[in-house]
Amino acid sequence: MRASPALVRQFAPDPEEEQITSEERADPIGDHRHGPVKGIVHRYPDRVLLMPHFACAAYCRFCFRRERVGQPGEGLTPDELENALAYIRARPVLWEVILSGGDPLMLGPERLRHVLTALAAIAHLGVIRLHTRLPVADPQRVSESMVAALDAARDKALYVVLHCNHADELGPETTAVCRAIVRAGVPMLAQTVLLKGVNDTPESLAALFRALVRRRIKPYYLHQGDLARGTAHFRTTLAEGQALMRALRGELSGLCQPTYVLDIPGGHGKVPVGPCYLEGDPAGIVEVEDPQGTRAGVANGAGKTPPPEGGGGALTRRP
Ligand SMILES: *Cc1c(COP(=O)(O)O)cnc(C)c1O
Ligand code: SF4
Repeated sequence: MRASPALVRQFAPDPEEEQITSEERADPIGDHRHGPVKGIVHRYPDRVLLMPHFACAAYCRFCFRRERVGQPGEGLTPDELENALAYIRARPVLWEVILSGGDPLMLGPERLRHVLTALAAIAHLGVIRLHTRLPVADPQRVSESMVAALDAARDKALYVVLHCNHADELGPETTAVCRAIVRAGVPMLAQTVLLKGVNDTPESLAALFRALVRRRIKPYYLHQGDLARGTAHFRTTLAEGQALMRALRGELSGLCQPTYVLDIPGGHGKVPVGPCYLEGDPAGIVEVEDPQGTRAGVANGAGKTPPPEGGGGALTRRP
C-alpha cells in the first residue's frame, strides 16, 4: 500500500489510543452475548456470523474486534469448526451465513474451500457472504487459487464484501484482485467505517464511493464508528455523519449511496441512522426536503390534499 495520510492514520499506532472513554467497551457490538457456540454469533433470526478464526492481515487501529483479532490461538480447531457447522445445519431458519473474523480469506484457499463446500451442502442456506479486507491489506494473498476456491460455494449466492475506507486503498493490485473476483461471477459490496481524519469529508467519501462503483463494487454500509476501546479520536458524531450523507445525496449517483448504520452498543443490532427527509405526520400530510434542502408540502395517500396555505405545494426555501 502507498503511504497516503489516510492509510497512515488507519494503521499506524497513535498515542491518542491511550485515551479510553467511559462509554467504550471490550465487546462494543455485543458479540459475546450472542455466541451460542464458539465461532458463531447469532443475533438475527435468519443469519449468523461464522468466524473460523481471528487472524487478519490488517491491524486497523479502530478494529471493533481488536480485543480478539490477532490473538494467537484464537481460532477454531477442526472439532470446533465442525460444531459451528452443526449449529447451522440444525437450524433450517438460517438463510444466510456471513463469514467474518478476523479475515476469512486468511484461511488460505484449501481451508476456505473446505468451509465453503460444507456450507454449500446445507440445503436451507441461500446466501453466503464473505467479509474481507485482504484485497486491501495484502492483495498478493488473494491468489488465483483463492479466487478459484470461491467456486466451492456452488449454487449458493456468494457475495464478497470488501472493507474499504478510502479511495487510496484501491490501488492497481487491489483493483486487479477485485476484478478477478467479480469476473468469477461473485458480486462485490463494500462496507466503510466513518473515520475522523480519514474519510469524514463529502469529497473523500464521494471519491471512495465512486471509485468502488467504478470497480463494480456497490457501497453497502457506512458504519458509525463502534465504541471500541481507545478509538474516540476516530469517531465522528451522528450529526456529522448525517450531514455527510445529506451532502452526498445531492451530489452522487444512487449507486454510490450506502446506508449509514449504527451497530447499537450491547448487541442490539444495526439500524439505519441516516438523515430523514420527511417531517410531519407520515399518515397524512408531510413536508419533504429535496436534496438541495428545499422543502415542500406533499399529500401522502389518496384523498388527502395539501394544506391550502403555507407550504402547500409551492416550494419554499428552508428557513
Ligand atoms: C452485522 C451483522 C450481521 C449482518 O447484518 P446485515 O444488516 O444483514 O448486513 C449479522 N449478524 C451479526 C451478528 C452482525 O453483527
Ligand atoms: S480488517 Fe476488520 S478485523 Fe481486520 S483489523 Fe481491520 S477492522 Fe479488524
